[in-house]
Amino acid sequence: MNADTRNQELRTRNHLTLKRTLRYFLIALRDFIFPPVCLGCTEHETGHGLVCPQCLEQLERAPLPSNALPALQPVIHLRALGHYRPPFSNLVHELKYRNRRSLAPVLGKSLAGLLMSDGMLRNAELLVPVPLHPARLRERGYNQSQLLAEQIAQASRIPAADSLRRVRNTRAQVRLDDDARQKNMAGAFALRPGAAVAGKKVILIDDVATTGATLSSAAQALKDAGAREVLALVVARAR
Ligand SMILES: [Zn+2]
Repeated sequence: MNADTRNQELRTRNHLTLKRTLRYFLIALRDFIFPPVCLGCTEHETGHGLVCPQCLEQLERAPLPSNALPALQPVIHLRALGHYRPPFSNLVHELKYRNRRSLAPVLGKSLAGLLMSDGMLRNAELLVPVPLHPARLRERGYNQSQLLAEQIAQASRIPAADSLRRVRNTRAQVRLDDDARQKNMAGAFALRPGAAVAGKKVILIDDVATTGATLSSAAQALKDAGAREVLALVVARAR
């Protein structure tokens, strides 16, 4: 390496260090002027975290009891951290639509805690995230449910696998009634080639459950492929 190249390299390195220092300085300045506000309640300041202690406590404390959604079969057991309202609704929204992937470890840790404290979920053998349609995945760049499943797998040591794929790009469900949702979702999922679910007790992972139509359709695909039992774990329930 000649002296010129070395000088050039040093200059580049100094330039990068300067840029990094400047960025840290600007972040510190911004945090001083606008202290970071909790993504869950959008009220409390958080210091350096994403979520304030009050909301974190809710994430750890408030799991809803199992089941009783109209369209849940063949999911035999569903648990959620909470109802779809703050802080849960805000956190899901940030993770899903505002590219706040750094929330996945926070939510994943709470979900893993719920999983390990629940008698039925605890001894499952496989975590399967509800997949996005490839078109939506391209648009968003990531599948929030997959990020959650990976985090839960790390904490619980139950393996996660992307066993399902979406074969139809279903209509947005927001304006559909319960029956229409069920029809809209029927046959929306298929097993990925090579996915091994036969004989296994599987937990579906998703961000939100509303009627249960999506979970139900995904569970049916797993059952058709021979899964022994299908249960579900979500961040929030909209009902
Ligand atoms: Zn908060």
